[in-house]
Amino acid sequence: MNTKYWNKATLYRYVDALRKGICNSPNFSPVDSQKLAKRCIKNLTIEKIPFLNSDICGILYKGNHTTSIALNAKRSPEMQNFDCMHELIHYFFHDIEYCQRICSDKTEATICQDAYIEWQANEGAAQFLMPYQDFIPRFLPLIAQSFPCTSFQTVDDLAQFYRVTPAVIEVRINQLSYEIDQYRQGQSLEQIQLLSKKKREQQGIKVTPYLALLDFALDSFFESVV
Ligand SMILES: [Zn+2]
Repeated sequence: MNTKYWNKATLYRYVDALRKGICNSPNFSPVDSQKLAKRCIKNLTIEKIPFLNSDICGILYKGNHTTSIALNAKRSPEMQNFDCMHELIHYFFHDIEYCQRICSDKTEATICQDAYIEWQANEGAAQFLMPYQDFIPRFLPLIAQSFPCTSFQTVDDLAQFYRVTPAVIEVRINQLSYEIDQYRQGQSLEQIQLLSKKKREQQGIKVTPYLALLDFALDSFFESVV
């Protein structure tokens, strides 16, 4: 599949269609990406390997008859859930040259990577595991309830629900700040304009700094209890 000119909106459209095609439920429910992979890929082997290099998240080999995914045993189950989904995005959307690869979560890792392809795999995995249509309406009431004192609870609750790490939730909040702002201003989920962080920065669009607000709320809480 040629994904060369996909922007965030196109990527999300394909990811939503993929989820609809391979998940049996019409409504969103949290995803176990390894179970999902085993259910929908024939002749798949998933191995957990304690890689020496902790930069490595996963290795995908998609051959003509078999597929192998190696996940880093040194990473937590929640990290592996995201890592496996990342490999699945490569598997379903990217050409074979990108489906025999080593993936890392470090931008300056020792491993040579194609930044655009990796952006698609990361952003696609995020949309599969935490679709904005589910994430935004779930995030906003939590922030309202927890304000001004328990930001971790907000992030940790979401992490637990979506089976990912709190760090992944923080990245997702940042990725979706522009979309969250539009929703708060009354746009429906269908009308929201999807724009990548890079594109919105290029266009000089200012967004609400939700993570900074959460940190500020946390600082105020600790100050108030000292
Ligand atoms: Zn990758």
